[in-house]
Amino acid sequence: MSRYTIYLIEQCNCRCVYCYQTSYERAYTWEEIKVQLDVIIQDGKQDKIIEFIGGEPLLTFDMLVKAYNYLENNLNKITVLRYYISTNLTILNKNILDFFRENDNIFISISLDGNREMNKLRLWRNGKENYFTVVRNIKKLIKNNLNDRLMVHMVCHKENVDNLHKGVKFLNRLGVKAIDIGIVENTMSIDKNFCNSFINEHEKISLDKKKGKLTSVIITLDYEPISLGSFSKKDSTYLIYYLRNYVYKNHINIEQEA
Ligand code: SF4
Repeated sequence: MSRYTIYLIEQCNCRCVYCYQTSYERAYTWEEIKVQLDVIIQDGKQDKIIEFIGGEPLLTFDMLVKAYNYLENNLNKITVLRYYISTNLTILNKNILDFFRENDNIFISISLDGNREMNKLRLWRNGKENYFTVVRNIKKLIKNNLNDRLMVHMVCHKENVDNLHKGVKFLNRLGVKAIDIGIVENTMSIDKNFCNSFINEHEKISLDKKKGKLTSVIITLDYEPISLGSFSKKDSTYLIYYLRNYVYKNHINIEQEA
């Protein structure tokens, strides 16, 4: 299976403190997007997952629909298992909602870092918090029976890591069924205290899963889907090893420190 990422736009209506982008100027033309799509089509029948990202891809909704339709019209040449749209979900009008509802191979990956306190680095362009808008729109998706096709992507950094367990419980109460926990990219440093907190918080999440207190599936670190609830003691040990090795060895700041 191969995974492709299609960049639709550089522009974004937000300015998150840890954003990985350095420029917010461009919206890509159809010709530029089509070049990316044609590479996928040339790859042939091998199973594919396709992710649309930005900037904020819903800012260029017409282009998103056009790109989706272009690939769907080529399904005689390619096999797409599903599409992901990575969005800050600050924009959700009727057209967008209808598009999500009508196309059941589309999954929505929403950036929200947990409860209000945890999400304070996610900001509108004017520097104000976007938390309330995003939560309202998640509720709207759930109300429209899209819960099986949405996932919340939490970014963990040193200002929210100590509350990771609380944040997961909050999203679980909100009704979110899948939570993907990632670590901030190199736009913010992390240290060993961060790593230890990250691991400790995962232990609490794991315990809650085992006690049946959390119904959300937790997908950690973007690599392999891990349902913590099914972990045996041996697997929990593996999980800690896995996290420690990932966190200590794959983050550049830690690498330099080691
Ligand atoms: S939503 Fe935030 S992290 Fe994503 S592109 Fe916009 S400013 Fe950057």
